[in-house]
Amino acid sequence: MTTALSEELFARARRVIPSGVNSPVRAFGSVGGTPPFLTSAKGALLTDADGTEYVDLVGSWGPMILGHAHEGVVEAVREAAGRGLSFGAPQPGEVSLAEEVVARIAPVERLRLVNSGTEATMSALRVARAATDRDVVVKFAGCYHGHVDALLAEAGSGVATFAMPGSAGVTAATARDTVVLPYGDRAAVQALFAGRGGEIAAVITEAAPANMGVVPPLDEDGIGFNRFLAETAHAAGALLISDEVLTGFRASREGYFGIDGDGWAPDLLTFGKVIGGGLPVGAFGGRADLMDLLAPAGPVYQAGTLSGNPLATAAGLATFAGLDEEAYRTLGRASLALQQMVAEAFTAAGVPHVIQTAGTLFSVFFRDEPVRTYEDAKAQDTAAFTRFFHAMLEGGVYLPPSAFEAWFVSTAHDERILDRIGAVLPAAAQAAARG
Ligand code: PLP
Repeated sequence: MTTALSEELFARARRVIPSGVNSPVRAFGSVGGTPPFLTSAKGALLTDADGTEYVDLVGSWGPMILGHAHEGVVEAVREAAGRGLSFGAPQPGEVSLAEEVVARIAPVERLRLVNSGTEATMSALRVARAATDRDVVVKFAGCYHGHVDALLAEAGSGVATFAMPGSAGVTAATARDTVVLPYGDRAAVQALFAGRGGEIAAVITEAAPANMGVVPPLDEDGIGFNRFLAETAHAAGALLISDEVLTGFRASREGYFGIDGDGWAPDLLTFGKVIGGGLPVGAFGGRADLMDLLAPAGPVYQAGTLSGNPLATAAGLATFAGLDEEAYRTLGRASLALQQMVAEAFTAAGVPHVIQTAGTLFSVFFRDEPVRTYEDAKAQDTAAFTRFFHAMLEGGVYLPPSAFEAWFVSTAHDERILDRIGAVLPAAAQAAARG
């Protein structure tokens, strides 16, 4: 495999872009080597600057749920582009996209579009603080909610990949208003609320954590962790923010809420990724009385030059148009088939592993024991992952370059694509085993 052109691009990039990338995990810092610079993608396949083709299991970290350059999505964007790139004024696509989300997820009565998941969680926090007139926010270790100052402590995703405790540049005052608890620890949540319930504006959680690998919220006595959080927060006059940026419209047609949203509701929800079909979109929504606190009707300021951009809403709407029941069955089949192939190859090679799922979403941990917390996730064999990752890449399969990320399939991951992955897996599993 030649990598000369990617190497040349990476060298040029490092001269003008910090670490050569515009988002940290892309730099391959934790796995080493040169990231392929991608020049095109179609369906489940990527092509890099050197002309090497890869089966993609990253899917731009979630948005490309229908596969790359999906004809319906590309045509919708092309058509929208012909009508104007940005108006900075209301346009019909915003209304249709909000209607689509409101129709799929019952607790969303109103939705506002932003440009990223980060903006969505940042804005939801502001609404929650305004609504409760309280400052403290509770988050869980290993959950990632974007690079919002208040939410970077013990975050998953790139913060986990690079083993960072949080981020420099976050003020002590901001950090003081964020309480980080172990994921799934009901006793810790109860103790915190017993002591400081009156200060807490909101609990924010990933609907199913997927940024420390996938850690589904478990049931105890028939009550799921999300419902427990909603009940505990509400009893203290606090809100629950359910972050569905990653799980939304991927874990199921109605997001993770479609899987465990029974008998409870979050107050605010955040979205991103799939709802933009590959263009920059995020959204936050929820109870009408809370969302109506936003300016201009209410006192909470929030705005965006490009928010509700016509290209982004066209891509999102075309993606939703492709996400019918059949699409979720296809995703589910691809996800399951891949999980089985991985389990077989790892078992045959003697690689300790556990595969965890949240609907059609899954990840592979390089350890034997189930992962329930960030501490568990960190106690995996990341060196084995690195060997596996490079063997897969060499064999033409592009995995997330971190042991802490979910693997993303699309409706374009058909049998032919799965066979290509299957052909590489046994040797890659053996490489992982050679410690
Ligand atoms: N929330 C979750 C659960 C995410 O997975 C992410 C991104 O991976 C974000 C928020 C931040 O979204 P963005 O990268 O679009 O800012």
